[in-house]
Amino acid sequence: MPMTRMRYMLNHKVGDPKEWSYSWALQDDQTISTHCDFCGQPEQRITYEVTRAEERLWICQRCVGRYPVGGMLNGSRLQPRAARAQVHGLTARLKQQTCHEIIKEIQRITTDPGIEEALVYFDRNLQLSPQRAALLFAALPLLRRPIDPRIFDVQTRSTQHQDEFGALDDKARALVWSALSPLQCRRLASLGYAPSAVRRATSRKARQDTIQVTSSRMADLSQPAGWNQRPISKEQSAS
Ligand SMILES: [Zn+2]
Repeated sequence: MPMTRMRYMLNHKVGDPKEWSYSWALQDDQTISTHCDFCGQPEQRITYEVTRAEERLWICQRCVGRYPVGGMLNGSRLQPRAARAQVHGLTARLKQQTCHEIIKEIQRITTDPGIEEALVYFDRNLQLSPQRAALLFAALPLLRRPIDPRIFDVQTRSTQHQDEFGALDDKARALVWSALSPLQCRRLASLGYAPSAVRRATSRKARQDTIQVTSSRMADLSQPAGWNQRPISKEQSAS
């Protein structure tokens, strides 16, 4: 999938989305690398099986919201709206179950009591606090299979959780950072809590931007002399 393709169009092989039905089977890709058979969008976590006669495709959450796919449930046909609600309920349960099982798997192979606490905490909140996330993500390699930490929700909304994140050491912050959304990262970076590797990359980028701005200012200075005088006369009239 080329990176330049920003808009995702319905694959022409799909035809009329109304002809497709949910089988109610869902897949949870712990590596977030499944693509959607309807629109082709890559890097999906949850996909939904849809069928048309003998054909089977797996579609993304965005296509669930966008196309009027129905489905049979307990002998009656669900209209797209009801089908979507059914799918959403299944999604929440599956996400929760996947995360629970991963923590449980780690708990079985480690003696760290913090993992057990993380499991109790997750079951209660369906999210992880920054400290518990750091502990869990450090232990993920024990499972010896790729797991994308973004499948876990990390709490960063309250001041308490932001401070908890800020109190982590740099290595732990970097581990948790990889699971955060761009919005969460921006908020924590504005508090000065970005891990050092991110801060270095950001200041490198800022320096490059300064060089670009400076060179465009240089170009402005080469404009005719009269162009530069306008801001000066404005200041004079203001004083
Ligand atoms: Zn899609």
